[in-house]
Amino acid sequence: MKIMVLNSGSSSVKYQVIDMEDESVLARGIVERIGLAGSRLKHRKKGEEELIVEEEVPNHNKAIELILKYLTHPFYGVIKDVREINAVGHRVVHGGEKFTSSVLITDEVVEMIRECIPLAPLHNPANLSGIEAAAASIPHAPMVAVFDTAFHQTMPEYSYLYALPYELYEEKRIRRYGFHGTSHRYVSDRAAFLLKKPKEKLRIITAHLGNGASMTAVKYGKSIDTTMGYTPLEGLYMGTRCGNLDPAIPLALQRELKMSYTEVDHLLNKKSGMLGVSGFSSDMRDLEEAADKGNRRAKLALDMYAYMVKKYIGAYSAAMGGLDVLVFTAGIGENSWLIREKSCEGLEFIGIEIDPQKNRQMIGGKEGSISKDGSKVEVFVIPTNEELVIARDTKEIVESLKKH
Ligand code: ADP
Repeated sequence: MKIMVLNSGSSSVKYQVIDMEDESVLARGIVERIGLAGSRLKHRKKGEEELIVEEEVPNHNKAIELILKYLTHPFYGVIKDVREINAVGHRVVHGGEKFTSSVLITDEVVEMIRECIPLAPLHNPANLSGIEAAAASIPHAPMVAVFDTAFHQTMPEYSYLYALPYELYEEKRIRRYGFHGTSHRYVSDRAAFLLKKPKEKLRIITAHLGNGASMTAVKYGKSIDTTMGYTPLEGLYMGTRCGNLDPAIPLALQRELKMSYTEVDHLLNKKSGMLGVSGFSSDMRDLEEAADKGNRRAKLALDMYAYMVKKYIGAYSAAMGGLDVLVFTAGIGENSWLIREKSCEGLEFIGIEIDPQKNRQMIGGKEGSISKDGSKVEVFVIPTNEELVIARDTKEIVESLKKH
């Protein structure tokens, strides 16, 4: 079975074609700058150099057509005919409270995803454009939606509610949803697999530290708390997002500095985080390099980052009544031994003991343990693979259709 995985953003579509026989990626790529000047396709066939095609791509329909053109290309392609794609799996950012797991896409499901647009006004419309475009170009293939929020739907009410007037939850569904669910699910499952223990017996903290970053407490296989909230702005501070704040600060910015709603939104989402603190970059590699050369604010940004990760390790260990496994993943989690080392410093009292040697070597997409032999808590670095989870869910749902 060959499955196409699509991740449609407002100005980009990322794709992979995965052969489910051996779960190998036959081709992957991205169409960038959709609807903007300078749009292009970057396409890589397994074992080949990356191909870049500059072409006008006004909308998602054209993007999918361009992707299919190169997937069926005599040289750059990996299939002869579009009909070889057996199913399509879509990443959908917000499933609200309606979706607790991945589902087959029907007209009703599309409608329900549309109803979640107020919760994710930037993401869900783009995801729907991708779904509509794929339905038009690959009409024979069943499609599945995999939601970023679904894994967190197991959080108990006392964990997901904000202490706002309860009617705001009842009427406007204002609550914690959490994101990156596909990644937290993948790395926590994978940690249980590596440990050869059932996940139902493990208390795991997963730290997804990329441009966007979140941590989750996964108790006995279920998310019971996560740092991102109503939107992906809450929790850890990120490349350009501020993370946790005193909620009076945005009010003060409006009142004291006379900033507009749009300006505050821009400041909190695009000008804060590592960029805001360092003053020059949202990229962890730049911060590490500058801190190494003595840049005070870059060093401060690193210290703040590690401190915040450490605080959540403590909080979630308490929330779960103990900790068995800590997992680091995504760009920073997979590569920055420094952030891992600093955020685990002084946590021996929880049972976390990092092996400095192993930690420094676990970079560049390697998977394995970085804790000392005998450390009470196992600490893993596990490269995330959201596309594979989407493909696996899609396969499972499509195969169950055949049985009925
Ligand atoms: P996204 O959320 O966009 O998928 P990634 O998971 O790719 O992001 O993470 C991007 C982050 O990972 C950036 O801050 C980048 O600096 C960081 N990163 C990537 N490689 C390294 C490295 N070798 N050392 C430190 N940080 C790294």
